[in-house]
Amino acid sequence: MTAATVVWFRLDLRLSDNPALHAAAARGGAVIPLYIWSPDEERPWQPGGATKWWLHHSLEELAARLERLGSPLVLRSGSSDQVLEDVARECGADAIYWNRRYEPHLAKRDAAVERKLSGRWNVATFNSALLREPDTIATKQGTPFQVFTPYWKACLATATEHEQDVVEAPRRMTPPLKPLKSERLSDWKLLPRRNWADHFREFGVPGELGARKRLSSFLNKGLDEYEAERNRPDHEGVSRFSAHLHFGELSPREVRDALRLHAHQGDGAAKKAAEAFLRQLYWREFAHHLLHHFPHTDRKPLREQFAKFPWTSDAAKLRAWQRGQTGFPIVDAGMRQLWRTGWMHNRVRMIVASFLVKDLLLSWQAGAAWFWDTLVDADLANNSLGWQWTAGCGADAAPYFRVFNPTSQGEKFDPEGDYVRRYVPELAKLPTKWIHRPEEAPADVLAKAGVTLGKDYPRPIVDHGRARDAALAAWRKIR
Ligand SMILES: Cc1cc2nc3c(=O)[nH]c(=O)nc-3n(C[C@H](O)[C@H](O)[C@H](O)COP(=O)(O)OP(=O)(O)OC[C@H]3O[C@@H](n4cnc5c(N)ncnc54)[C@H](O)[C@@H]3O)c2cc1C
Repeated sequence: MTAATVVWFRLDLRLSDNPALHAAAARGGAVIPLYIWSPDEERPWQPGGATKWWLHHSLEELAARLERLGSPLVLRSGSSDQVLEDVARECGADAIYWNRRYEPHLAKRDAAVERKLSGRWNVATFNSALLREPDTIATKQGTPFQVFTPYWKACLATATEHEQDVVEAPRRMTPPLKPLKSERLSDWKLLPRRNWADHFREFGVPGELGARKRLSSFLNKGLDEYEAERNRPDHEGVSRFSAHLHFGELSPREVRDALRLHAHQGDGAAKKAAEAFLRQLYWREFAHHLLHHFPHTDRKPLREQFAKFPWTSDAAKLRAWQRGQTGFPIVDAGMRQLWRTGWMHNRVRMIVASFLVKDLLLSWQAGAAWFWDTLVDADLANNSLGWQWTAGCGADAAPYFRVFNPTSQGEKFDPEGDYVRRYVPELAKLPTKWIHRPEEAPADVLAKAGVTLGKDYPRPIVDHGRARDAALAAWRKIR
């Protein structure tokens, strides 16, 4: 009789296309799904507040699905190697499987766990999270890519030889002979104490089912307009897959296959739409590639000269940014969308990040830390890439001297002001002409809209023109 297999769940909270789970079920013995809560091992990147909320609900959903398949999810806290050892002994397992993680500090931890356990158990690891694992691609010189377009072209050119097929979800699973002890999810206290997360479901529904529904609704309405709509925060033009992809509730391979089908069944426009979206998915792959090969870039700039950048420190300005009280409506709308829903549109992420590092001269690391705590999709690779890109200090980054003007960005990408009206309701009655520049609105217009600047809504905390000059002067010092 085949002995039991322990499957260590991490950022792969799904049954479908889960290679570790699939391989364990295929062995034929009992399968023991296990989740270990070990935030200390994730230092300095322990899960932030918003991702803990998502994790709680995702685990709840996964547990219910596993229960229906026949083998309940075991929850334990403690050091990963010790818990794996304990659980494997308790159920008489001879094998331990998991899907790989790529954050450098966790990959190191996993390698140590594997070394420790593999003498006594059959340890096998799989790829569930990426279309292209970071070590499987390099430039012609054998070095890591640092520019996106050649990376993406090289990935496409060599895709077939590296492609992994989607694997099916197990139909049923054999439980261990004796039920294993499991901790109570509520004892991990992943949910925020106050009512902060009350509106997070406006962004999405945690779990594999929510992910699948999102995938099918995006394919049916969304994908074909993606290229035209993806920069419009006032529209529903993006997929909102990010948290599902981060937690592994959605498999990138299943998305890839769905895009192929869409292209195959549609016309030339459908093919173009599918390619545009796949390209965006490859930014996620590129982010993992970079963080793997430049493991310091979660904290330090990739471009070394930026280590000497004269960032300022100003707690009041940082707080005004965090709370959406800067006096720049598009920035404030973005920061309030983030606080309310745990998510922010990509275009607005770029605008608020640029505002922090260029208008306020506060460090990108301070911004990345706030995002880490407040985004439900906080992802070390994507967040590090996004911040370094905006600050001009990363791979293939926007040049530092290209400074976004938050007012004209707002007018361009939220032309009717609907996005601002939604998240900054105190400006809702301002005519569109003034919605992105309330400080320039005539007194009678402000009065009619019920806005007293400095009371209902802040005056701009910086003068953008002067802030831009200061940012460029700071950049010249390190150039
Ligand atoms: C300062 C900053 C910080 C960011 N932090 C994160 C983060 O912590 N987690 C995160 O998932 N994304 C992050 N991003 C990237 C991007 O903003 C989000 O992935 C996107 O907004 C998620 O919404 P969506 O799923 O609707 O995206 P869509 O536009 O529908 O894209 C589909 C998927 O492609 C991937 N993707 C798209 N754009 C990017 C990108 N620029 N970089 C990497 N992957 C991308 C994501 O996995 C996304 O879910 C950040 C961007 C910036 C500028």
